[in-house]
Amino acid sequence: MKYSLRTKLTLSYIFVVLISVFMISVVTNLLLDKHFKEYIIENQERKSREIVFQVSQQYRMDGTWDKEGIESICINALKQGMIIKVVDPSDNVVWDARLHDNHQCEQMLAQMERNMSSRYPNWEGKYVENVYPVSNKLGNAGKITIGYYGPFYFNDSDLAFINTINRIITGIGAFSLILSFLVGSVMAKRLSTPISRVITTARMISKGYFGDRITEKFNTKETAQLTETINNLAETLENQESLRKRLTADVAHELRTPLATLQSHMEAMIDGIWEPDTQRLKSCHEEIMRINRLVGDLEKLARYESENLILTRTSFDVSELINNIIQNFENDFASKGIGISFSGEKEIVHADKDKISQVIVNLLSNALKYTPKGGAVEVMVKGEDDLTEIYVRDNGKGISPEDLPYIFERFYRADKSRNRMTGGAGIGLTITKAIVEAHKGKIEVKSKVDEGTEFVITLPKQPV
Ligand code: ADP
Repeated sequence: MKYSLRTKLTLSYIFVVLISVFMISVVTNLLLDKHFKEYIIENQERKSREIVFQVSQQYRMDGTWDKEGIESICINALKQGMIIKVVDPSDNVVWDARLHDNHQCEQMLAQMERNMSSRYPNWEGKYVENVYPVSNKLGNAGKITIGYYGPFYFNDSDLAFINTINRIITGIGAFSLILSFLVGSVMAKRLSTPISRVITTARMISKGYFGDRITEKFNTKETAQLTETINNLAETLENQESLRKRLTADVAHELRTPLATLQSHMEAMIDGIWEPDTQRLKSCHEEIMRINRLVGDLEKLARYESENLILTRTSFDVSELINNIIQNFENDFASKGIGISFSGEKEIVHADKDKISQVIVNLLSNALKYTPKGGAVEVMVKGEDDLTEIYVRDNGKGISPEDLPYIFERFYRADKSRNRMTGGAGIGLTITKAIVEAHKGKIEVKSKVDEGTEFVITLPKQPV
């Protein structure tokens, strides 16, 4: 059985409140019983002594009792639940509450019995009497018997006090229950709203609609993280999806031209319009080579894009690596009449040596390709605190501001009319960027047409 977050949270709140109120009520009543009982017993004792004192004051010096005084004390005591009998030294009754009004005495005891049974259902109380001798300066003046409902009793105001406390606890309990229900509902709503929103977006994603985003802001840390993660997921999937679509379109576009050329050449030769001579066959062969190169480039791109997260890092001197690569390129630069120079100190980085080497090779071969005869290429390594910067600068043909934002995209070539046989497929910089970003670095480019181009790569020295 699956319950909603709202039901579960509200029920938990209610459960906690019920347990708390129950505990408070039990503990309060236990303490109340204990202390109140002690207080009542002490009070009874104090009142009895008080009455004995007051009654003894009514004994006159001539050996007689002031009966009126005694009566008023004893009637007052009767109202407080005490049945008093006063006798003189010869056991003659001076005053007896039962003789005065036995009916009232019985009624009072029955009332005590009811009070106690209402609080303690199995209460077993009984009438008890305490006898106190009365003495004064003349000696023995008689005895006072004080009877009451024992071992202790609650009168109406005591009972009302206890009941009021219990009513207050019940009231607080009921109020807390309503409050817990309301707070539980509000909290559950606050939690379930973002979760429901995440569910809706996740469902949309699973159906292939990646455009949905959670725009609401939530102030619970975890829910904010959850919605942010879902938004990032949607964005990544959306990017992947658009890359996938673009890749298919780009590949189709790249293949169309050589295939169309091949088709028309072949058809012309099959139809006998063209003689299949060496020149024409060579042209067809070039188109096949172009397709072959494109497929090779695609394979490379696929490898880098899937591998770019797996880096085999080692510590190495990047200046030494660049110097070695420059040496390999020296002949190519020399034969094209381009000067190449390097400046930089020893600079240790912790990175994937093969992949960084691929980056340098790509940038140098571009500089070689796009710099005319007589030009110069400069490579520089600079070490900052935690960063290493690599500059590759040429004074070649440059890139126009319209092309500049797109040069890192797949298959993007600034010069569309350039002979595809000499240029690449436009993925060199895509691979370069993928490698640099896998190292948590960045690549920037500045360029001016006919003045030159500068690529700056910034790499963290240690993995971040
Ligand atoms: P390609 O294989 O075409 O060189 P890249 O991805 O390496 O593809 O480069 C993309 C485009 O950026 C190139 O076609 C070129 O127009 C431009 N580009 C790259 N490097 C330079 C440079 N050093 N000078 C001028 N243009 C450049």
